[in-house]
Amino acid sequence: MIDEEALRCLRKAGKAASQALKSIMCKVHEGMPLTEICEYVENYIRSMGCEPAFPCNISINHVAAHYTSYIGDQSVIPPRSLVKIDVGAHFNGFIADVAASIALSDDYEPLVHASEKALEAAINAIKPGVKISTLGSLIESTIKSFGFKPIRNLSGHMLKQYTLHGEKSIPNVATSSSVSLEVDEVYAIEPFATNGAGLVTDSSEAYIFRYLSPKKAKKFERELLATIWNRFRSLPFCDRWVRDIIPGETLPKLIELSHIGSLYGYHVLVERGRGLVAQSEHTVIVCEDGVEVITSF
Ligand code: MN
Ligand code: MN
Repeated sequence: MIDEEALRCLRKAGKAASQALKSIMCKVHEGMPLTEICEYVENYIRSMGCEPAFPCNISINHVAAHYTSYIGDQSVIPPRSLVKIDVGAHFNGFIADVAASIALSDDYEPLVHASEKALEAAINAIKPGVKISTLGSLIESTIKSFGFKPIRNLSGHMLKQYTLHGEKSIPNVATSSSVSLEVDEVYAIEPFATNGAGLVTDSSEAYIFRYLSPKKAKKFERELLATIWNRFRSLPFCDRWVRDIIPGETLPKLIELSHIGSLYGYHVLVERGRGLVAQSEHTVIVCEDGVEVITSF
């Protein structure tokens, strides 16, 4: 049995994340500043008594993941774009991770539909003992049935307390793995569909970071890193959340700390063939009799 307290925390985080996403979905429009979207989502989560589990990700067109607004970001939602919003909330470290795609052009609806149907197919198949390869295969065949490709080097992931990416992954393609899901485990399932190459690659930019190690840091940086650990543990954060402890050149300092290995920098991920990318994601608990989706709208 999953601990009653853990279940309560997960459901609370799930409600905060999904309501924040649902609320921003109908507000996103051409010309909207990305900073406004991030701050709206993150403040919504806080107003629900939770904390953001990672900075709100906004990924546009061929960008698949890991973009968040930085201090001074002037970017806005471009016309006729395909926008993915990825939201994480946690309560006492119990994380809910949910994402959806918004098509600002009717042309992109089939791609969004493909990722949604793939997510639905995977969730419908979840029960204790189901193989992760079965889920990957279902996701792949569903996306391909609409004439698109899954992104094969992105995957869903196990969630644990204060850990966004647990040891087991849920692939978006068929694999030869014999690993299966067990009762009481928590997973984020996230199919990505594209009309491009079906692979993402690192861009040079990074706006999201995670604590790694103070080993190579100078004395004053160690104090900074200690504050970062106390505030976020190993959960991702961004410059907007540490401007009080790093005044001035916040983002350059975080990039510097990532270069010496004190922080991990998440590079913005772009589709290798510059294809458009759609994403759908829910967080689920594997139950004796199937599945509980904690992020349903
Ligand atoms: Mn996510
Ligand atoms: Mn995720």
